[in-house]
Amino acid sequence: MSRHTTFKIGGPADVFVCPEDADDLLDILRYAGSHKIDHFIIGGGSKLLVGDKGIRGFVISLCTPAFNGTVFDGETVSAGCGIKIHELINKAAEESLGGLEFLAGIPGTLGGALTMNAGWPSKAIGDLVEEITALKGLELIKLDRSELKFSYRSSNLDGMVLISAKLKLEKKPKDNIEAEMKKNLEKKRKIQELGYPSVGSVFLNPSGSSPAWEIIDKCRLRGKSVGGAAVSQKHANFIINRGNASASDVRELIDEIQKIVFKEHQIMLKLETKLIGDF
Ligand SMILES: Cc1cc2nc3c(=O)[nH]c(=O)nc-3n(C[C@H](O)[C@H](O)[C@H](O)COP(=O)(O)OP(=O)(O)OC[C@H]3O[C@@H](n4cnc5c(N)ncnc54)[C@H](O)[C@@H]3O)c2cc1C
Repeated sequence: MSRHTTFKIGGPADVFVCPEDADDLLDILRYAGSHKIDHFIIGGGSKLLVGDKGIRGFVISLCTPAFNGTVFDGETVSAGCGIKIHELINKAAEESLGGLEFLAGIPGTLGGALTMNAGWPSKAIGDLVEEITALKGLELIKLDRSELKFSYRSSNLDGMVLISAKLKLEKKPKDNIEAEMKKNLEKKRKIQELGYPSVGSVFLNPSGSSPAWEIIDKCRLRGKSVGGAAVSQKHANFIINRGNASASDVRELIDEIQKIVFKEHQIMLKLETKLIGDF
């Protein structure tokens, strides 16, 4: 799984499968269900810490063309949930449709972004969603705006397989879209640690308190390391893989940070990162 995560960490999956289309996906899920095999849907793997012993069962990736298409209609786009976020922004810009620029620089896929309600700095993708098509168990369902709940880095979509989504965009000159994307990317480059493998922010910002990076910083934890994993010097809520970090290194470092922050500030930092598989 180290080849499928931005952390470049994680042991093997029993089976890594890319369904050819929705029918193929249904067959795989049916097979998994009838043989009591676990399954996990992966997007770009940019929010995952996968254990060193890997993942039992099927890891399913919607990376094939059937899940990567876009259809533009007026000021909306219907997109497959396997599409990469940067590709979606660029395709929309080609149609002079904006509204997604705040997502520039966020790695991963549309499916992952919707599940996590990804965003930056104060906007999130959930605000743009009109409808989602998903598999709930083996049933294909459509969820409209009124059935969807998005909050800070979370949604009510856990447990479903997201197939496609319809997003509301806005007419904008392509040049303006590109300029705004460039501005956002530059801002991100300044504050985020992009030179090493990571999952972005490790912890959620606690509500009613300073952001997680500031609390970690106050505990003087920049640069603290366990094995190949270290707290970034540039962004204190990033843990970086210095090249040979194991999942256990990262997990131990996470535990240390939580303990120290709790001791010094009586705040228990919660994970934004998803811990998957066997450690
Ligand atoms: C350098 C860097 C910068 C980042 N900056 C930001 C930022 O500014 N803002 C932000 O919000 N995030 C940021 N992130 C985190 C991450 O990119 C987002 O959370 C992203 O949306 C995750 O998408 P993914 O496709 O990689 O999901 P994954 O990591 O593959 O999966 C995340 C979750 O989504 C689920 N999932 C994925 N696809 C589907 C699907 N089709 N159906 C059902 N479930 C699915 C998975 O099962 C898992 O539970 C950053 C990460 C990095 C590495």
